[in-house]
Amino acid sequence: RKLYAIDGWGAPYFSISEQGRLCVKPQGDGGPVIDLYSLASTLKDEGLEMPFLFRFPDIVDHRLHLLQGCFDRAVARYEYQGCYRGVFPVKCNHDRELITTILDCGAKFGWGLEVGSKPELLMAMSLLGQAPGSLLICNGYKDQDYIELVVQCWRLGIEAVVVLEQFKELGVLLRVARRMGVRPVLGVRAKLSTRHEGHWGSTSGEKAKFGLRPREIVAVVRQLAALGMTDCLQLLHFHIGSQITNIRVVKEAMSEAAYLYAELVDMGAGMRVIDCGGGLGIDYDGSNTDAPASLSYTMQNYANDVVCSLRDVCLERNIPMPTVVSESGRALASHHAVMVFDVVARPPTAAEMEPHNTKEVMAAALKPELSVTAPQPGRPARAGGKGRFLLCSFCEVLDGLESTACSLREAYSDAVYFKEEALRAFKLGVLSLEERAAVDLLFDATCNRILHLAAAAQLPLPEALQPSTRPHSATYHVNLSIFRSAPDTWAIEQVFPILPIHRLDEEPTVAATLADLTCDSDGKIDRFISPVGENEAAPVLPLHDLRSGEPYLLAMFLTGVYQEVMGSAHNMFGSTHCVVVRAAECCVNPMPDDTLIHDGEGKILGNGFVVDHILRGETMADVLTRAQHSGSEMLLAMRAAAGTAVLDGRMTQEAAEALVQTFTHQMHSYTYLSL
Ligand code: PLP
Repeated sequence: RKLYAIDGWGAPYFSISEQGRLCVKPQGDGGPVIDLYSLASTLKDEGLEMPFLFRFPDIVDHRLHLLQGCFDRAVARYEYQGCYRGVFPVKCNHDRELITTILDCGAKFGWGLEVGSKPELLMAMSLLGQAPGSLLICNGYKDQDYIELVVQCWRLGIEAVVVLEQFKELGVLLRVARRMGVRPVLGVRAKLSTRHEGHWGSTSGEKAKFGLRPREIVAVVRQLAALGMTDCLQLLHFHIGSQITNIRVVKEAMSEAAYLYAELVDMGAGMRVIDCGGGLGIDYDGSNTDAPASLSYTMQNYANDVVCSLRDVCLERNIPMPTVVSESGRALASHHAVMVFDVVARPPTAAEMEPHNTKEVMAAALKPELSVTAPQPGRPARAGGKGRFLLCSFCEVLDGLESTACSLREAYSDAVYFKEEALRAFKLGVLSLEERAAVDLLFDATCNRILHLAAAAQLPLPEALQPSTRPHSATYHVNLSIFRSAPDTWAIEQVFPILPIHRLDEEPTVAATLADLTCDSDGKIDRFISPVGENEAAPVLPLHDLRSGEPYLLAMFLTGVYQEVMGSAHNMFGSTHCVVVRAAECCVNPMPDDTLIHDGEGKILGNGFVVDHILRGETMADVLTRAQHSGSEMLLAMRAAAGTAVLDGRMTQEAAEALVQTFTHQMHSYTYLSL
C-alpha cells in the first residue's frame, strides 16, 4: 500500500486486499467490493482479449454526490442564498455511458452539460431535449450555425446560455436572435488576471487564449444597453485552468470574479449565474501536496472557498446571491475508468543467465571452434586478438570480485571500461557479434554480482548502481499503446498511478520501466508515483518477476478524462474493449446464463455488481477504414494477389484460400497482441 501510495490517490474506491489483490469499491467505503484481478482473468478466460478499459458508472455517481454534497454543505454553512448546479464539460470524455450516467444521477440536482463545439452541442441537444429546464453552457468559438442550434435549444425549453468567448460573437448572436425572433440568454467569459502555475495555467491571465478582457466586457454591456437588452446578459464565466493544486489560487480567482460579477449587476445586467469553470484537481500521486500531480486541498475546501468568497462580496455590495455553476471534469470522472493490460515480456536479466548461460556464451566466444561465426570462404579474415583479449580481461574482473567496497567500485569501473572498449572495437570491425554479446552478458553479470555482494555484506554500491538509477531498471513490454490510452503520459508527462492488480502480498523485486507496443521510442512510461513519503515522480515502478506461464496484469488508474478523447491511432492501435460494470439494480441488460460475455450483455458477478455490457474495441478493419483503406477493397486486392500467385505456380489453391481466410479473420480482429 505504501509502495504505491494507494490510500492517497485511491481512497475510497481502490484498495489492496489481504490476498494481495486490487479491489474496487464503486460505491465507496461500505459498498460491495470487486476483485479486479479475478474479474479481468475471468473475462480473459472467456475470450476477451487484453487490454481493456473498465468503466464504473457507480464511481461517477458517488463523485457527483460528493461534489454536490460539498457545495450543499458550504451553502448551508455560509447561509448562502443561492444554489449550486454542476455541468459536465463533455470534452473531457464524450462517452455516452458516462454522460448519460451524469445526467441520470444529476437530474435531481439540476445538473447539465457544458459544450464547446457544434458536434458537442448536437449531442447535448439530443440528450437534454426531453428534459426541459436542463442547464446547457455553450462555450467555445461560435459561428451562425452554432447560434441557430442554441436558438433551437431555447425552443425545446433547454436552459441554454451562450457564453461569449470573443467580442465579435456578440454581433453574430444578436443578428441570429433578431432574425429568429428570440431574446437571447447570454454570458461572458472573463479573462481573469489571476493565474495558476500548473501546466494549464496559461488558460488564465491577460494573454489567455479565451475570454474577454475587462474593456471588451464593458463594451458588451454598453452595446446591449443601447439595444435595451442588458437583462439578456445573465452569466459570468471564467476558467483559470485545470488541476489547480493550491486553494490560494481558487480564493484569489473567486474574489476577482465576484467583484466583476457585482460590477456587472451594478451596470444593469440581468446577472443570476456565476460559472467558475473547471480546475478542481485530483490527487494523482497521493502526496496531498501542491506538486503538479497532486493538490493540497479537499473538495470541501474548494466548495467552501467558492461559496464563501461570493457570499462576502454579495453582502458587501448588497446584491442577490447568484446560482453557482462549476464545470468540473477531472474531479468528477477521472476515477471511473481503469485500464487493465498485460505484460508481454521483459528482456532476460543477467541473473537468469548466470552462471550457466554466461559461461556457455563465454566459452563459445573464447573458443572459435565452438562459434557459429565460421570464417567465410573468400572473405578477408577478421583482425583477431582484440575480442579475445577483452573477454579474457573481463572474465578476470568478474572472477576476481571480492566482498569489499573498494573491489566493487573498481570492478564496476573496469566493467564500464570494457563495455565501452567493446563497442569501439565492434564499430572498427575487430569484434564479432558473438564477442560483443559476450561482453554485454559479462557486463550484466558483473553488475549483478556487485549488487549481490553489496546486499550480502551491506557494502555501499557504486553511484551508478543505486536502485533509483534508470539504466539498471528492467523494461517491461506491455500490451498497450500509450498514444491511444494514456496520451498525457507522453504529451505532458502526466503521472498516473500504475500497479499490478495481483501478487500485491509479495515483495516486488524488479525496478521496471514500461515500453508500449508502438514502434516509437516515446512509447514508454518512465515516470511513476513514488512511495508514501517521497515527493518527486519515481523513474522506476516496483514490479514482480514474471512467472512462466502466468499472466502478469497491471492497471492504470484515474484515466477517465482527456485520455480517451485525446488518444490517437499511432501504429494503428485502435480503441480498446470497454467493460461497463455497474450495481445490479441499475443494470440495463441483466443476462441469465453463466458466461460474462454474451452478445454484449452482462452477468451478475455475485456481489451486487454486473458486467452490464461490453463494447468491443476497434478491429483492424475499423482503424484501416479511418485512414481510407477500404476493407473490402483490400480483401479484393488480396484475392487477386493470391490468384496470381496460384497461376504463377508460387502457391497452391489451398494455400491461397488459407491466405484469404487468415487475412479476412485478421481484418476483423483486435489490433492488440493476442497473448
Ligand atoms: N471548463 C472549461 C472551459 C475548460 O476549458 C475545462 C478544461 O480545461 C474544464 C471546464 C474542465 O476542467 P477540469 O477538468 O479541470 O475540471
